[in-house]
Amino acid sequence: MVELRVKRIPLLDLNAQYQVIGDEVNAVVRSVLESQQFILGPEVRDLEREIAGYCGTAHAVGCASGSDAILLALMALEIGPGDEVITSPFTFFATAGSIVRLGARPVFVDIDEQTFNIDVSLIERAVTSRTKAIMPVHLFGECAEIERLRELASARAIPIIEDAAQAIGSTHFGKPAGSLGLAACFSFYPSKNLGGAGDGGMLTTNDVEFADKLKVMRGHGAKKKYFHEFVGMNSRLDSLQAAILRVKLRHLDDWTAARRANAARYRELFARTGLPESGKVKLPVESAGGFHVYNQFVIRAEERDKLQAHMKEHGVGTEVYYPLSLHLQQCFKTLGHKPRDFPKSERATNEALAIPVYPELDEDDQEYVVETIESFYR
Ligand SMILES: *Cc1c(COP(=O)(O)O)cnc(C)c1O
Repeated sequence: MVELRVKRIPLLDLNAQYQVIGDEVNAVVRSVLESQQFILGPEVRDLEREIAGYCGTAHAVGCASGSDAILLALMALEIGPGDEVITSPFTFFATAGSIVRLGARPVFVDIDEQTFNIDVSLIERAVTSRTKAIMPVHLFGECAEIERLRELASARAIPIIEDAAQAIGSTHFGKPAGSLGLAACFSFYPSKNLGGAGDGGMLTTNDVEFADKLKVMRGHGAKKKYFHEFVGMNSRLDSLQAAILRVKLRHLDDWTAARRANAARYRELFARTGLPESGKVKLPVESAGGFHVYNQFVIRAEERDKLQAHMKEHGVGTEVYYPLSLHLQQCFKTLGHKPRDFPKSERATNEALAIPVYPELDEDDQEYVVETIESFYR
């Protein structure tokens, strides 16, 4: 019988990160305050250049959030009523919410059980003459199988927009997330692998015309001040956010390496428990050609809700991403879906549980997390 110690391990510990980079962050915040330039400006321009470089794209366009990045991409494609966008039902709400906000229809395609990402082999039969974009989500930090989708998409001239909100630094057959489609959407929400001190987002693209249109769209659709070609939106990135994100970007590869090392250690620790063999716990799978950045380490667990309560009782933070498949959301009722339309997505909503994997987590913390899970099933 393993003696259970008592520890407190949050799902994510941003204080631990701030203790390391606090001085760097405070210095750039002060310098932006001294410049009194708050909207876009040189910090945003430099961050855009650095993110484009990081993602291997020619252009990047900052905006106010990851949700706005998705909205801007769809607006720049002039998607609206009567149009369809193919995406996953197992994702954060913004992916499909943005489609519906523009009056278009999200056409859901079920997920692959192994990766939680859209099952690209099912996409072809969802394509219609109204399909205006395909938006795969790189869920939890692992790229969707875009290579397998490319031929279908290009043969029909359907643009791919990546929802890369959780996947900065991830790669797919050597190509970075952000460079795999016409454009990609990133979020700097604090819990993302590159998180700001508030909301922020960015789009990457290799297409100069598309980049220009995104810039027009984020500034109320005006190319020339006060002359509006489109009805765009106000969605800009703050200089303060950009300055902080530039500091953090310099640490991102180290943090990613630490997340991956933690994931590898979980695999060793879980292997010793026998839980994966018994099928009570399934560990996340890394797909061929992928480089997982573990924004979340998501297990599938038998009696998930009871396990989560047990972990909470023992001080371990977890989260259910996501408890309700998007096709069953009340606000999408008019889409006409019913339970069992997307059974794999629905099963994931009942089994998935994110456990702590943040970079500062140490070996002792991870042993405690695994012991806590082990004690539940014993
Ligand atoms: C976080 C997230 C978004 C939205 O980003 P915000 O910056 O919070 O608006 C969109 N899609 C996915 C998959 C996300 O995880």
